Amino acid sequence: MGRLDRIAEPWGTRTPYARGEKWPVRVDTFLADGNGAEHPDRWVRSASVLHSNGDALDIAVKDGRIVGVRGRAEDRVNHGRLDPKDLYGWQAGASPDRLTRPLVRRGGRLVETDWDTAMDHIVARTKELLRDQGPSAIGFYTTGQLFLEEYYTLSLIAHGGLGTNHLDGNTRLCTATAAEALKQSFACDGQPGSYTDIDHADVIALFGHNVAETQPVLWMRILDRLAGPEPPALICVDPRLTPVARAAAVHLAPRPGTNVALMNGLLHEIIGNGWTDAEYITRHTVGFDELERRVKEYPPERAAEICDVPAEEIRRAARALGTCERLVSTVLQGFYQSHQATAAAVQVNNLHLVRGMLGRPGCGVLQMNGQPTAQNTRECGADGDLPGFRNWADDAQVADLGRVWNVDPSRIPHYGPPTHAMKMFRYAEQGSLRMLWVTGTNPAVSLPELSRIRSVLSQERLFLIVQDLFPTETTELADVVLPAAGWAEKTGTFTNADRTVHLSEKAVDPPGRARPDLDIFLDYARRMDLRDKDGGPLVKWHDPESAFEAWKECSRGRPCDYTGLSYDRLRGGSGIQWPCDAEHPDGTERLYTGGAFWSDPDYCESYGRDLVTGAPVEPTEYRAMNPYGKAVIKSAGYLPPHEQPDGDHPFLLTTGRTLYHFHTRTKTARAPQLQAAAPEMWVEISTGDASELGVMEGDLVEVSTPRGSVRAKARVSGIRDGVLFLPFHYGYWDIDEGSEADEAHGRAANELTLTDWDAASKQPLYKTAAARLRRIRAQDGSPAPAPTTAASAPLGAGVPETRGGPAAESDEDVRGTPPTEGDT
Ligand code: SF4
Repeated sequence: MGRLDRIAEPWGTRTPYARGEKWPVRVDTFLADGNGAEHPDRWVRSASVLHSNGDALDIAVKDGRIVGVRGRAEDRVNHGRLDPKDLYGWQAGASPDRLTRPLVRRGGRLVETDWDTAMDHIVARTKELLRDQGPSAIGFYTTGQLFLEEYYTLSLIAHGGLGTNHLDGNTRLCTATAAEALKQSFACDGQPGSYTDIDHADVIALFGHNVAETQPVLWMRILDRLAGPEPPALICVDPRLTPVARAAAVHLAPRPGTNVALMNGLLHEIIGNGWTDAEYITRHTVGFDELERRVKEYPPERAAEICDVPAEEIRRAARALGTCERLVSTVLQGFYQSHQATAAAVQVNNLHLVRGMLGRPGCGVLQMNGQPTAQNTRECGADGDLPGFRNWADDAQVADLGRVWNVDPSRIPHYGPPTHAMKMFRYAEQGSLRMLWVTGTNPAVSLPELSRIRSVLSQERLFLIVQDLFPTETTELADVVLPAAGWAEKTGTFTNADRTVHLSEKAVDPPGRARPDLDIFLDYARRMDLRDKDGGPLVKWHDPESAFEAWKECSRGRPCDYTGLSYDRLRGGSGIQWPCDAEHPDGTERLYTGGAFWSDPDYCESYGRDLVTGAPVEPTEYRAMNPYGKAVIKSAGYLPPHEQPDGDHPFLLTTGRTLYHFHTRTKTARAPQLQAAAPEMWVEISTGDASELGVMEGDLVEVSTPRGSVRAKARVSGIRDGVLFLPFHYGYWDIDEGSEADEAHGRAANELTLTDWDAASKQPLYKTAAARLRRIRAQDGSPAPAPTTAASAPLGAGVPETRGGPAAESDEDVRGTPPTEGDT
């Protein structure tokens, strides 16, 4: 058993293993009051909620309080490991500034009230709007952090009860492109790959995915392969010098917004050199000829010129990707939050399709998620799509949903594509959407172009309900605030980025009058008296387990089939991957084995969209193109971003996450170890640009775009020239007295980002905005408050290392190879 400062050493101790071996177990534990000194009364089963990796963990409870967490050794996802946010983030739950009572706006001020008053107010307003304007006046904007049971209930209320098409999640900012890229290539959502593919791969390619900070436990798995015999080669595509880039055999740092050109350059080499599986292509795909024609236009020299990377490096990367026997690719926000997001992410799928590398150990694509329960938002139809990956454009599938819900199918809106979040805010701006119910997210900091979002949310005519754990920049603008129970204060299931389902059980009571989101939705449905077509209650469940049982029926026979799962089964050792049904009683490790896809025209979730315009493909068009349900290869030409640098705004601005924080820090800023590791906003600039502008580490600088500006200290880092980086975690709720940043000078990165989105996935752009940088004054002796451990590491000397000290010491128990065979 060792002890380690896991702020200073976020990935802990290496446990090397060879290709094809089981990943060794290492159990990480953090107990706030001293390890082992005081024994918890009990350990409660759960999984991590501050990222999408789905690390299984048990919560230590003593005297009715959470006192720590421990990774679960037998779980297939993490084999006992936890990351810094798992280890320390839970402390936020006990923060004294939790919302504990409902609030309603009276005379311009939010005042405390009781649940009856708050809910009756919401119900009265809903009924009034339904009567006067119809269901399209009502919208729901949810999150990727509730539980499956909650999304499914919300989806039924919105689609089957009120009949509004306006239901989306902040997953729009996050995983909309993951879902859309999967739908484009395989006609259905669902990760083809599995984390266990890391154990077998020869090459692991990370496309715009800084896994070291977004899913640190998955990075530990990769690091352990790198430390063992026959290590895989890493290919990294990222404009920053991330930990992944430092470990990579080839690091391509393209100009932001040029990913399609880069992918076409790589595919040009792979196809041109015949590194393809012709038989697989013929038997299992449609569309290859068009791709072949298209990528001929992108020899490495042309791609290199567009992307500003050496042509020789494109060739090296292509050779590695094209000649390996087992390839794992992962994709995240570097691809997803760009103007050609879906087009670029689809090329990664194409890479695997043309090489026939799907459905076998070590051959998988992970179109990653960002949030812990984003997958469930999509499965349950809380992101606009219909539950169970049903196709809104297929009347038979809509009718089937009507059967499950016992409602007339005409009541379920399917007259057009579901409304995406960016459009919902546009409708609110224009005045057709009059009630917006926000759950578990903080759009006043996380959406692009914040001055616009603030003005939309603060309109008098918009009735804004916000349901959350803490006061936020968004609750400040609300008409009603509902205090929600957090993770560990309620029971439910959720599914990670490789389809592993975990059960999280209630460990402690919520504070004050806070209630689980499920209870709030059930209460609303009851007060609204929502009915099915026979006059029975529309929502027929009353607690998490009965909601889960209802969801199982909804998923029956669909790709995300949960019918083989139950709360009792999920109380076993490990999480289980869907589909889990009679045919796959132990779950399904990989999808698309043997080239069988869910793309039959009568079964598929989606007919796809035009990659340039985003227009949905017509059913007849899809049937003609893919009558036998194969995988679809779609090609795309490079198009430049709408907003390009110019003389006034010579930089490209990109935004992103740090290892120690989640979203707008409502939770992680309340965990002292995490907050101390990254306490304040910073700006990253390359050495070359810094010396040209006379900027030194720690200087106060101002970054501006045509929409706004922020002030922060400069970190001179390994980012590529011409690009600035801002972390998006910092808003205004915890701004210090005397801070350089304030609302006048801006602290939130999204003051600067633009209202624009990818045509196919509707995911907004956070990676390309034209910006300028101005030095305000010299440093005051202190460096930028950016962590030194990961992508924001300084290039110059003299910056003290980020450390957590004694408060961050955690236990590590390295136990070696798991004893049992099976699904690990
Ligand atoms: S912060 Fe990351 S995880 Fe959260 S919504 Fe944005 S992209 Fe997704």
